[in-house]
Amino acid sequence: MTVITRFAPSPTGHLHVGNIRTALHNWLLAKKHGGCFLLRIDDTDGERSREHFVDGILEDLAWLGLVPDGQVRQSARFALYEASFARLVASGRVYRCYETAQELDLKRKVLLGRGLPPIYDRSALQLSEADHATKAVSGEKPHWRFLLDRDVPIEWQDGIRGPQHFEPGQMSDPVIRRADGSWLYMLPSVIDDIALGVTDVLRGEDHVSNTATQLQMFTALGAAPPRFAHEALLTGAEGKLSKRLGSLGMGQLRDAGIEPEALVALLARLGTSDPVDPKLDAAALAASFELTHFGRAPARFDEVELHRINAAIVHRLPYARVAPLLPQGMGEAAWEAIRPNLAHIDEVAGWWQVVTGPIDQREFGTETREFLGQAAKALRWCEDPWHALTGALKAATGRKGKALFLPLRQALTGLDHGPDMAALLPLIGEAEARARLERAAG
Ligand code: GLU
Repeated sequence: MTVITRFAPSPTGHLHVGNIRTALHNWLLAKKHGGCFLLRIDDTDGERSREHFVDGILEDLAWLGLVPDGQVRQSARFALYEASFARLVASGRVYRCYETAQELDLKRKVLLGRGLPPIYDRSALQLSEADHATKAVSGEKPHWRFLLDRDVPIEWQDGIRGPQHFEPGQMSDPVIRRADGSWLYMLPSVIDDIALGVTDVLRGEDHVSNTATQLQMFTALGAAPPRFAHEALLTGAEGKLSKRLGSLGMGQLRDAGIEPEALVALLARLGTSDPVDPKLDAAALAASFELTHFGRAPARFDEVELHRINAAIVHRLPYARVAPLLPQGMGEAAWEAIRPNLAHIDEVAGWWQVVTGPIDQREFGTETREFLGQAAKALRWCEDPWHALTGALKAATGRKGKALFLPLRQALTGLDHGPDMAALLPLIGEAEARARLERAAG
């Protein structure tokens, strides 16, 4: 059976790191099995859903390379929901209720006051057809609840959490449809998972109790439920579910110089026992993705670690990947010379300026100026001018180590640290290198 996963964001805001992690894990799970990764836009809430958030979701997924194999929008599927709903009406698995929010709140408070769980008392089930007719005449519209089967415990083998057990007697019949006819999340999600042949639902553990309810909906609609797995939620480095993390979007990370490969490398492994490995591309991450490697403890997202991984990723990025982002005229050799010095790609411009000049020359002491003058004369252009130069100067002056290399680096780049001089010097070029050395020599 082909594995079909789905990512089902509501377009009521930007995707944050936590959503993206869920999307990525669904993508990895599908790709590991050569299956399909679907995007379902949960836009049943017409009031809160926004078109620009849909665009943002698509952009973010594309940026990360998580291309959906199919895409649906819940707002285009109301006819399907209506048909499935009609079946549940016919089989008596949904029922009409009229309590206001205030009435329900009061009922809950009374139960809690008595030390009882605040479960809906199903009093609407006592209403007769005549009662419903009276309410209809007076213009009262019902909302609808799904009737849980309280006779059998709800159980499933969760792909991450292991065996799960819920007592339906301890659960409220969920409201699935509002009085204005609009849908709540719960039932359309099940209808879609059935219709789209979803085999694996992988989502955050905030949905565990929804799964308990939804399992009964699958059965009520005559479908075998998919496999379920719930991952522990993401926390900030400080161990709490930070506000910043809840709002940290792809745009901010992009602006901070984070590459999609870095985010993928980190998030793929976050919450698992597998180490983050910048060498692995998305396909390799998919091949090694294992739900059983996930732990139950909250996964810590650490931005400092993300930047560290970003640097490791940038050091490996091939020229073809970055060419469009590089300054005009900067070729492959320059990229390879400079990339080990970058934590973020945009720092490349500064280093390219060091190659092309002009550089900030500093003042040197007399002895160093003399040495640099010697260097200007000793410079010979060959395949490896740096080693030729330093070899000749070492022999001529007896200087070695820092005393030999540092003044040359400073005179040639204006800086104390930087890319390997053997790679940098050929990029600077003979005439410019000699001119820099001469200028430094005064
Ligand atoms: N729209 C739901 C959410 O964002 C989808 C949950 C699910 O994966 O079923 O929480």
